[in-house]
Amino acid sequence: MMDSNRKTYRLDEILGKPIVMSSDKKTLIYGLNVKDREVAISAYSESESRTGYFHKVEIEYLPASMYLINGSCTCESFQYYGMPCKHMLKVRNVYIKNRNKFSKD
Ligand SMILES: [Zn+2]
Repeated sequence: MMDSNRKTYRLDEILGKPIVMSSDKKTLIYGLNVKDREVAISAYSESESRTGYFHKVEIEYLPASMYLINGSCTCESFQYYGMPCKHMLKVRNVYIKNRNKFSKD
């Protein structure tokens, strides 16, 4: 049941070009949607145990408080515990580090 959500992707299976990539190239942001005070981010982050395979990560985040309000990841840890995993935190941190590249004004 939950196994259907547990999936990794190779980079050549991911469509489109990343908007931003972390300096270690392990976390790639593909989508960003800013609404009111909330930011929704879609990204992929590389598995630590399987090099070359990436988990799909979605987060909703409040920049003012740095608080994750929602999210999902295809990794085993999130599927099992349902708690924010290291991939979700990495995606948030890559967003924070590159925030100036996203601002429209
Ligand atoms: Zn994860």
